[in-house]
Amino acid sequence: MNWRDFVRNVDPYVPGEQPKENKVIKLNTNENPYGPSAKVQACVQDFDLLRKYPDPAATDLVDALAVYHGVDPSQVFVGVGSDDVLGMAFLTFFNSDQPILFPDITYSFYPVWAELYKIPYRTMPLTDDFCIRTEDYTGPNGGVVFPNPNAPTARLMDLSSVEEIIKQNRDRVVIVDEAYIDFAPEGSSALSLIDRYDNLLVVRTFSKSRSMAGLRIGYAMGQKELIDCLQAVKYSYNSYTMNRPSILYGCASIADEEYFRTTVEKIVATRERFTAGLREMGFRVIPSAANFVFASHGTIPASEIFEKAKKEKIYFRYFNSPRIDNYLRITIGTDEEMDTVIKFLSNLT
Ligand code: PMP
Repeated sequence: MNWRDFVRNVDPYVPGEQPKENKVIKLNTNENPYGPSAKVQACVQDFDLLRKYPDPAATDLVDALAVYHGVDPSQVFVGVGSDDVLGMAFLTFFNSDQPILFPDITYSFYPVWAELYKIPYRTMPLTDDFCIRTEDYTGPNGGVVFPNPNAPTARLMDLSSVEEIIKQNRDRVVIVDEAYIDFAPEGSSALSLIDRYDNLLVVRTFSKSRSMAGLRIGYAMGQKELIDCLQAVKYSYNSYTMNRPSILYGCASIADEEYFRTTVEKIVATRERFTAGLREMGFRVIPSAANFVFASHGTIPASEIFEKAKKEKIYFRYFNSPRIDNYLRITIGTDEEMDTVIKFLSNLT
């Protein structure tokens, strides 16, 4: 026996590659090509900001988010990207002997947190066209988590089906990971349900629609009792998860609604145009409600396209996993970037 026998061994989540080179078309980690609002840039000056500890409750950001979403500040929890918020939520709410449930094709961090925290889990197969079957999420379980829109498929589940899953699990926490919801049609978010369901936690991020992946801001909304449980775990782990620049810049981003709407609309328009272009070339494209598409070509293997693209300095995401190993996940960049991608792909097909 030695210390190696007592190590918590984990198989970590593998994030998308961050190439060191600048001159690449980087469409592999669902970043937003337009950058944060100029209002954020305007407050990147105050160096004295870094001297003091931040407000552990991140009150300014929590209040701004509460006003923005029309909820009470007691219904908002903030963290270091939605990964931090989700990890904290797994630790807080998934504490049963029963397995938690999530789709077989989904955000690949879920099984990693489950393993890390020793939470039993069971994956529920999506249909052949990558839909979640609500009837799979009934019966005894330790909780439910899924992204909506799902990742990496980009497919949106309608709100009534989301509500069905929440209703079927009134005595368990259901986490709806809405990292990409701002790119979905209005009225798709489960946020409208939080007052009716005390078991619903909705998780969001500034990394995609607000173009601030580098800052790491995520948040969760739910009834006060759920949020209080999250706070108790957070304060048992690290009081200062939100640094001062994140709080300040996060508030500045929320204050610029026009920029937010304009850039989201641009990405949605580019996504629709790009999807049509891919389909014309013989790609199967799953209908997307996110800032990326999930696509497969009839004859050219995805792994081959992925490697060839990389040689041309175009980065896509490829998952060598069962059922999706012939698909590419392609982030929506600027119109110009997507035109270059279409040109590159049309030379292959
Ligand atoms: N949820 C989903 C479904 C995601 O794809 C991502 C991005 N990797 C995240 C959460 C985490 O994003 P972040 O930590 O940047 O908020």
